[in-house]
Order: sequence, then structure tokens, then C-alpha cells
Amino acid sequence: MTACLAIDVGGTKIAAALVTLDGKETKVEQRVQIHTPQNPSADALDSALTEILTKFEGLFDRVSVASTGIIQNGILTALNPKNLGNLAFFPLEESIVKHTDKPVTLLNDAQAAGCAEFLRQDDIDNFAFITVSTGVGGGVILNRKLFTGTNGIAGHIGHSLADPNGELCGCGRVGCVEAVAAGRAIARDAAKWDDPCDPPEVFNRFRAGDKQASELVDKSAKAIANLIADLKISFDIQRIALGGSVGLAEGYKDRVEHFLSLMPEIYRPDVVPAYYAQDAGLIGAAWWADNQN
Ligand SMILES: [Zn+2]
Repeated sequence: MTACLAIDVGGTKIAAALVTLDGKETKVEQRVQIHTPQNPSADALDSALTEILTKFEGLFDRVSVASTGIIQNGILTALNPKNLGNLAFFPLEESIVKHTDKPVTLLNDAQAAGCAEFLRQDDIDNFAFITVSTGVGGGVILNRKLFTGTNGIAGHIGHSLADPNGELCGCGRVGCVEAVAAGRAIARDAAKWDDPCDPPEVFNRFRAGDKQASELVDKSAKAIANLIADLKISFDIQRIALGGSVGLAEGYKDRVEHFLSLMPEIYRPDVVPAYYAQDAGLIGAAWWADNQN
């Protein structure tokens, strides 16, 4: 069995561990986590990766990296590269291969989390993971393979259209699902209230039956329900795992399912809560390294 050094490069943390997979059994060992350098320079990220590869030297047969953004030909970019600041166009693959002669694979972190969730779905072929957190991301599995597309963009379902008259999204398009449904969108709207609050308090008020908070949660849940219906009808997706801090907030999935229930049955896949929490990126990166072709 091969051990994969899985590395998850996020906006706030970089995690790494040795991951071994045997069917549905996953082992995550020697996990380390460091803060992603803030106002990061390319040099700071390069040093952090060097430190990880040095620490695990001799212990792995391959390396797989899940990263925020999009990986194109080994280079880190994003739908809107400006959002990556100094890390836009960081040569991620080059930064790793100079420290190891083992095979290296790279993918987007939400795509990786989708792979991890798919590990638990052995009865279906077509599956999607949706994370509703600060942003909205996803991973799409078609015929039991992660679909990344030619440019690594596939699965950026948070940037499909929710409302042509909606707010401007960080990607530059108006009215994306992310600009309507994400935690950042909920925070933006709730900050304008007479009695403003943050998203966790929006959810407290929603669960207490507050009308304004319930309408805001429903605005998000309805956009996600429509996204799920679009995925079902576009790709015949059989099951969706819903994750992220908003996606897993108590009561949220029920509202998504409520809006789905108003649609014809053909638009309604199974919706399940995401299973893996903080290790989803690590486990999914390791799975993808074994299941690319
Ligand atoms: Zn967008």
C-alpha cells in the first residue's frame, strides 16, 4: 500500500499528513498544521512547503496537494487571480518537485473534498459535493472520476448564476450563487440590518423563528436548492453532499430540502450532510492521486 503525503493549502492554514487508503478505510497519520503566512509572499509559501517536505522525507511514495484556487499546468491561479494577492501564479508544482523525485499531483481543495466524500458513496456513479462556507465551492464526480476539466475549472459551481440582478461576485460576474448564498453574502446582508449581526447569530435568530433572519437563510438555501436541481438535470447527479459552515449549520439542510421539495421530482437528488470535516482535503487529495485515470 502506498503512503501519500497529502498537503492542503488553504487561505488560513496549511495541513499535511501521511494518508493511506484501503477501500473506504482511511488512515491520516502524523498530521501537522501551520498557519498560512499572512500577506503571504511566494517565498513564504515556498518555505512553508519546503519545511513540510523536509519533515516527511523518506516516508511517502507520492505527493498530492489540494489547494485553494485553480491549478493550471502546476501554477496556482483563480477565477479572479487578484483574489490570491501575492500568491497569484505561484509555481506550486515547481516548489514541490525540487524537493522530491516522487510523483506529484495537484488539485483544487473543494474538488479534493468532493473526492473524500465520494469515498463513502460506493452505490452510485455520479455525485457532487457542495461546500457553503465563506464562499461556495464544489467537486463533481462523473462515472466515479473527479471531473476537473481541461483547465481545472470544473466544479466551480458557486459561480453559476443565481440572480441576474444580484450582487457583484468576487470573480467579477454579477449574481453568482456565491454572491447570494455564501457566508460572506449572509454577513454582508445582515450587517445592513437595524440590529446587525454576524452569520452565527443570523442562524441563532433563524432557529428562534426571527422573520428577518429566516428570510436571509431562505435566500441562501433557495439558491443552493436551485444549484442542486441544476446539477441533477445537467449531469444526472444521484446524490449531493452538503458541507461547509453554512451548509452544516443546524436547520439549513432542511430549508434546502424544503425548496427542492417544491420542484418536480426529477430535479431532486438525495442530499446528505458532508461526513469529513477538517481532513477532507487531505483524504481527497490522496484518493485522487490513486484515481486520476
Ligand atoms: Zn462568481
